[in-house]
Amino acid sequence: MKALLGIYEEAWKRWGARNQRAMLAEECCELAQAALKQDRLFNGRSVDSLCEEIADVELLIESVCHNQHLRERVDQWRQKKIARLINILRTPDALSKSPGEASEG
Ligand SMILES: [Mg+2]
Repeated sequence: MKALLGIYEEAWKRWGARNQRAMLAEECCELAQAALKQDRLFNGRSVDSLCEEIADVELLIESVCHNQHLRERVDQWRQKKIARLINILRTPDALSKSPGEASEG
């Protein structure tokens, strides 16, 4: 993991914070496209494409979190979101709604 963090720092220095965040946004778009394509073209290639884009996004998220020292704050948000999801799942009338429909934020 320590070696990977060094790679993230090297990439951050080479391409800069702004470009790294732009790459994250681009990869998020590619992931969205791959997720939508899987429903339309369910086959081995679409699943592999989805996995590739998830890996791209995960790496850039890890890099941004590391280089901007965001991990603790992101983890706090994760805990809030998980608690909200659990609350939604335990609310009987929310069962047929998506998380976005069932609550605010
Ligand atoms: Mg990609």
